[in-house]
Amino acid sequence: MTATTLSDPAPSSQILGACPHDCPDTCSLLTTVQNGVAIKVQGNPAHPHTAGSLCTKVSRYTERTYHPERILHPLKRVGPKGSGQFERVSWDAALSDIAARLTAIAARDPQAILPYSYAGTMGLVQGESIAARFFNTLAASQLERTICAAAGGEGLVHTLGGKVGMRVEFFAESDVILIWGSNSITSNLHFWRYANDAKRRGARLICIDPRKSETADKCHEHVALLPGTDGALALGLMHELVRNDWLDHDYLARYTLGWEALRERALQWPPERAAATCGIAPEQVRALARDYGACARKGQAAAIRMNYGLQRVHGGGNAVRLIASLPALIGAWRHRAGGVLLSSSGAFPVQRAALQRPDLLAGRKPRSINMATIGNALLQPASPDFGSAIAALVVYNSNPVAIAPESAKVVQGFAREDLFTVVLEHFQTDTADYADYILPATTQLEHWDVHSAYGHTDALLNRPAIAPLGKAKPNTQIFRELARHMGLTDPCLQDSDEALCRQAYGDAVDFETLLAQGFATLPTPDAPFAQGNFPTPSGKCEFFSERLAARGLDGLPDHMPNHEAAHTSSAFPLAMISPPARNFLNSSFVNVNSLQATEGEPLLEIHPDDAAARQIAQGDVVRVFNDRGDYQCRAHVSTRARAGVVNGLGVWWRKLGLNGTNVNQLTSQNLTDLGHGPTFYDCLVQVSRSE
Ligand code: SF4
Repeated sequence: MTATTLSDPAPSSQILGACPHDCPDTCSLLTTVQNGVAIKVQGNPAHPHTAGSLCTKVSRYTERTYHPERILHPLKRVGPKGSGQFERVSWDAALSDIAARLTAIAARDPQAILPYSYAGTMGLVQGESIAARFFNTLAASQLERTICAAAGGEGLVHTLGGKVGMRVEFFAESDVILIWGSNSITSNLHFWRYANDAKRRGARLICIDPRKSETADKCHEHVALLPGTDGALALGLMHELVRNDWLDHDYLARYTLGWEALRERALQWPPERAAATCGIAPEQVRALARDYGACARKGQAAAIRMNYGLQRVHGGGNAVRLIASLPALIGAWRHRAGGVLLSSSGAFPVQRAALQRPDLLAGRKPRSINMATIGNALLQPASPDFGSAIAALVVYNSNPVAIAPESAKVVQGFAREDLFTVVLEHFQTDTADYADYILPATTQLEHWDVHSAYGHTDALLNRPAIAPLGKAKPNTQIFRELARHMGLTDPCLQDSDEALCRQAYGDAVDFETLLAQGFATLPTPDAPFAQGNFPTPSGKCEFFSERLAARGLDGLPDHMPNHEAAHTSSAFPLAMISPPARNFLNSSFVNVNSLQATEGEPLLEIHPDDAAARQIAQGDVVRVFNDRGDYQCRAHVSTRARAGVVNGLGVWWRKLGLNGTNVNQLTSQNLTDLGHGPTFYDCLVQVSRSE
């Protein structure tokens, strides 16, 4: 591949890109183009983490890009909200009307305008660059982007000092790997490759997950704990590490803060108590502690790969704090193949202020609206506390009607006749059905972008492989043109994608390397915390966090029961989690025909005992319900679900489900202990056979 400038047409038939989806792996893509048409998307063999392979979802990227239902023209609503009836309009007509509507609302109160976006693309440029500048110029309401990782992210920050951890490639050298709250085969495939290398070398793999996932099938041991009890399990492990003196006293003394207090707390959690809370056998707690602690005593490497599933519960932030503390107890950080990884995103020198220009607020301090409670926010009338009711919503890179919790309220909010809604999209999603205007956005094959990652430490560049289809435009271009139509004149609102790509890392990553090979590896130490040096205020692993204590919170992590803990309701006796179906990624790919055909229908995995107690047979249509609503899907009677827990695989588009709803009809708008995150996996339900 020859190096080009960003304005040149692609010179060869194989174009380097980056996967834009919300997945830790951020693969390097190689798109084959013939006569201007992308015919194949593959993994780049030259990128060490991608190693030439992609997941099934993204290897179907051409099917998604050329999908017959792609939105290729601006559309204006002509029917009632939610009816999905639109007519084609020109870009100029759409942008002129949107600009007039937003200008009028901004004149009354710019905070009545709310952007709503997340990780539909993880790209730094097509995510929050011109869009953020546009909304900062207006001083629109800010969005608290909490929907996925807020609790765990804050848990990491208050323990390790940031979203930092082991380098993923060194898992291949680990001797024990706890895969905690992650179905890696489905959602972290390229980590799984390293774990498998370790397994072949003799490493012991232990999966900790309420669901007996495809990953659990391939591990030596599966600990099927109840949802939201991960913190209790971590405390039980600490108890055993203390009681058996499987501790690295030197590491604890030199490189940690608050050990005595944490030790006292851990001693309150003997295996029997932890096991009773987790719904497992005490011997499983003891055995897990033995595997983990003894490994380090032998000088071997003990590693933990967490993922974000476990923090989608009331105590998610505290659970992550407890799990992230474990490596310091046994000195696992001394070894490059020991420690913990939840996210590596803190390693990237992203120049956010340059991209997003918060200075454009010019001293104005708009309110923040939490995206996890958008249902409540849209239904909130004007008040002195709340301020103006939300009058306009601009949605990009997200599908809140499908993915936000407590859908009934979200739908009610989006259906408000007095709400003006603009949606930038590839497809007519559940959210787009409620738009006043749908604006056709480009896919990753049609625009430039720059990426960070949260499962490795390589920065990536995405080149366009093909010209935009139809009248589609990149998000950046849509916001540039909207700014012009609104008479916003700051020159930074017109920065080109080339300028933005270069601004994303400034001088911190060599742009020529990105241009030449599509990725650039960040210089990171092999064993970053072998001698402390945590990016915390104390420089130590902070079991006790002064910063949390200063906020009036417990400075020491603890187990916090779910808002809706198992066995606390006779009306709703089953705990429900909603992990992603294997062929979907959040609500992306649900409408890709080949992937949808593989998934079949929305499924609820239910344990044979729970099914028998309800006269539910394999394949029955079932009603899953609680006080917030009900959802119909097909029962899959299987030991993939543990007794007392059902797995509602998601996230289906509502309109593609059996009764026009999905699992989020049941989830609540309760929030996590840290980070104001949603609690999707903290949800009690009942299930019955549908009549
Ligand atoms: S979704 Fe993940 S595994 Fe699949 S191609 Fe993208 S980054 Fe790779």
